[in-house]
Amino acid sequence: MKLALIIFGALSVAFLGALFFAVYTIFVMKKETMENNDIDEMTGLRNRDGFMRAGKEMLEHNHNRSDGEIALIVFDVDKLRLINTLFGTDEGDKVVCAFADTIKSIAGKGDVVGRVDTDDFALLTKLHGKTSTEIADGFGKMLPTLIANSSVCEQLNFYAGVCVYDGHDDIYTLFNKANLCLLTHSDNQRVSEFTHEMENRMVENEIMRSEMLDALKNGQFELYYQPKVLFKTGEIMGVEALIRWHHPVKGFVPPCDFIPLAEQFGIITKIDEWGLFTACRQGKKWHDMGLRSIVISVNMSQAQFVRTDVYATVLSALTETGFDPKQLEIEVTETMAMTDVEHTVSVLNKIHELGVSISMDDFGTGYSSLASLKTIPFDVLKIDRSLVCDVNDNDTSRRITSAIVAMGKALKMVVLAEGVETNEQSKLLTDLGCDLAQGYYYSKPRPANEITEMLTVYMDGEEAI
Ligand code: C2E
Ligand code: CA
Ligand code: CA
Repeated sequence: MKLALIIFGALSVAFLGALFFAVYTIFVMKKETMENNDIDEMTGLRNRDGFMRAGKEMLEHNHNRSDGEIALIVFDVDKLRLINTLFGTDEGDKVVCAFADTIKSIAGKGDVVGRVDTDDFALLTKLHGKTSTEIADGFGKMLPTLIANSSVCEQLNFYAGVCVYDGHDDIYTLFNKANLCLLTHSDNQRVSEFTHEMENRMVENEIMRSEMLDALKNGQFELYYQPKVLFKTGEIMGVEALIRWHHPVKGFVPPCDFIPLAEQFGIITKIDEWGLFTACRQGKKWHDMGLRSIVISVNMSQAQFVRTDVYATVLSALTETGFDPKQLEIEVTETMAMTDVEHTVSVLNKIHELGVSISMDDFGTGYSSLASLKTIPFDVLKIDRSLVCDVNDNDTSRRITSAIVAMGKALKMVVLAEGVETNEQSKLLTDLGCDLAQGYYYSKPRPANEITEMLTVYMDGEEAI
């Protein structure tokens, strides 16, 4: 009996021990997996989840800020996508790792560091009497030394958004506030600190977002059309569709006040789709009225290419409206043609095969994208207004314009000058060999019915412009 009890006791102890060991092993394994899931493979830093978890703990420990002030700094690698495109992803990866190493080296003991997005890093740091700008400046000094031998060094830039912990925010709010600085900073401001004014602007932007959606539903948008004319004869060859917003309270809101916001909020894809269908419908109407056959160009934002199937949209706009593809033109910008080149090139080629022409907008403002001129089937090159406006007074502008015209011609493109405002500009640009003109000298953008009148006058044999 005694022996049985001893054996039973021993077995129980062994069983409980095994059970404890199993539970402990599962716990440790789970913890390890969780920790591994918290790590960004490329840099070895915490990823977004890991950063939030560790950041939450740090804030909890410093709830009463007994250890001094804490700030959250988000560092944004400027134009990482462009670096990847221009120099290759290996160089892009080096930049990312240099950012990671720099942040690690400026972080103090107990600070939390993470790679929170492909091109964003975050640092939750004790300020120790420093200002957040001083910390970000330290980062800016250190960064180039870690990537000194790389060809991307000259392109290297960053922006930092800072929010000082007020003792109340949770880690997510603190992070969102620092991030908001990155969304609202100006290009010449490297470090910007969160203010309540920014928060107000965020609220205003949110109102704007819902107003834009309402505007789409309630028909507050209208397309105006600006003529594109032959320099030599003044004949209208086409029009550019430009959006106008008739706001019920604010009145007229110019595109520069809402297009960038619409891009930021992703509404631009809806707006551009509306613009494309509206322009095609109008073009078909003019065609059915037997008016002079003109090309209508429509602006397409970058988001349209990144987030939607532009080819399918263009195809359905043409099919549903019955507009002739040869009368449709899509305007894309230089910088856009540089982003995600492979995808953009293949989509634009497919659209081009439908018979639609492709025009490079604002040429001469962004990066010089000679490579994309080779790969993208551009039919039209639009010389930017900034070159045209001082072409008569500035020798450099004249030379650049002349070189662009020569290049466009060599590549068999139609060259258009944007923003022609004076007779002198018109004469010089004609001499330089530009084919088409667009600008206030010829006509401002006008509502559809005024263009109908112009085209009708044309049919009656009079000069329209
Ligand atoms: P953009 O594509 O470069 O369009 C030309 C802009 O220059 C238009 O401004 C036009 O009114 C203006 N402009 C034309 N001739 C002259 C001139 O002689 N002098 C001056 N100073 N300006 C002239 P707008 O209509 O205010 O549009 C501004 C920008 O908004 C456009 O620049 C385009 O980037 C964007 N945008 C307009 N409509 C749409 C749209 O439907 N979708 C998208 N994604 N963007 C649009
Ligand atoms: Ca345009
Ligand atoms: Ca333009």
